[in-house]
Amino acid sequence: MDLYSGLPYWLIKNQLINHYNPLKADMRVDVAIIGSGITGALTAHELCGAGIDCAVFDKRTVATGSTAASTSLLQYEIDVPLADMERLIGTDAAVKAYQASLQAIADIENVFSQVNHNPDFSRISSIYLASNKKGKRLLESELTARQKYGFPVTWLDTDELWKKHRLKAPAALKNTEAAQMDCYRGATYLLNYHERRNGLRVFSPTEIRGYQETKYGYDLVTADGFRIQAKYVVIAAGFEAGYFLPRKVMDLDSTYVLISQPVDEDQLWPERSLIWETRKPYFYMRTTSDNRMMIGGVDIPYKDAERRDRQLRAKVEQLKQKFGKIYPDIPFEVDMAWCGTFSTTKDGLPYIGSWPGKNRMFFALGYGGNGITFSMIAAQVIKHSLLGKDDERIKIFGFDRSY
Ligand SMILES: Cc1cc2nc3c(=O)[nH]c(=O)nc-3n(C[C@H](O)[C@H](O)[C@H](O)COP(=O)(O)OP(=O)(O)OC[C@H]3O[C@@H](n4cnc5c(N)ncnc54)[C@H](O)[C@@H]3O)c2cc1C
Repeated sequence: MDLYSGLPYWLIKNQLINHYNPLKADMRVDVAIIGSGITGALTAHELCGAGIDCAVFDKRTVATGSTAASTSLLQYEIDVPLADMERLIGTDAAVKAYQASLQAIADIENVFSQVNHNPDFSRISSIYLASNKKGKRLLESELTARQKYGFPVTWLDTDELWKKHRLKAPAALKNTEAAQMDCYRGATYLLNYHERRNGLRVFSPTEIRGYQETKYGYDLVTADGFRIQAKYVVIAAGFEAGYFLPRKVMDLDSTYVLISQPVDEDQLWPERSLIWETRKPYFYMRTTSDNRMMIGGVDIPYKDAERRDRQLRAKVEQLKQKFGKIYPDIPFEVDMAWCGTFSTTKDGLPYIGSWPGKNRMFFALGYGGNGITFSMIAAQVIKHSLLGKDDERIKIFGFDRSY
């Protein structure tokens, strides 16, 4: 699958990492991780930290799947608002899903302090704007739900929004528990760190073209015909995981991103908050450490990569117009634009864990707008499964969830 096209900023900012190590012989490993994006990297980090023998395989150059195209906003709010999620999956599960999401931001921060590296991770405030009166009503019920269960949130009315954030909107929810990062840099650093420190083996480009369950786990076959005997397999293959799944669990969307040229720091909006809105398909914005503005959204259902790419020029204009309406005084000169594919699930939640009856193949599928925080949760849950430890999050994010 063609995961994105255009010029993702992170690949240019960081440069492609120099890693060429295709698998050239049969091998054995306890845990084979398929995918070297942020999910595979966080999983490798958790497993290496627990002393579990693992190896990563990727058909592309390391971390150049969706991870390289991501805008990497880290928010505890899931695509489905808490108040709606309660109706969809029940209060207990919804609150636990939100709590897990909130905790994952701190856990990502912690992962990078463990390896003593900052992939442009910064704590930042998040503003969820009401796009219209209907959006304001949505935010009112969302405020009640979040406050009831102790989630960090405050209400901003029209006056406060204007005074504090130079934003014109009927209302907004704000919290200071959000973050942003460079997840391409984060993923490549983690893999390299564990290769150097913990003997992690990373094979790229190496495509897994076949797999068979055996008495001891799985036999994987690469595109070059080499055999990998693994006791367990982790599928961290992002939106291409369908090859390993018995049935489809997600829908695909096309999404668009622009990044501006750098501007003077004092031209950026107050607090450099993450800003997003209630309208669907939504629009969102963030800044980068080199004072650029990154804006994205205006998603459409994915049909094929050509159709997605044909829309890029029109979507660039649409995104620029949306930005211009929010902050007409901030100059936005487009430097790069790209489009990507991403998945959504009906309940806004990821799929984590093994398919019922297939206990040695774990899936780490962080679908939706919170893909990165979901990857963190998946890495921990899978580590706990491998260590035989209970983790109640499996009930909420597993394939056999009952809703
Ligand atoms: C434009 C865009 C904006 C986004 N914004 C956000 C955001 O703001 N916040 C957020 O949390 N999430 C966001 N996401 C989602 C997030 O980026 C993804 O959830 C995350 O990057 C997925 O990481 P991954 O490692 O699971 O997948 P990927 O990065 O795609 O990695 C999977 C890897 O598996 C490899 N692979 C697949 N099949 C095989 C095979 N058979 N053999 C070998 N290797 C294989 C691929 O080559 C690929 O490198 C965004 C996504 C996009 C596209």
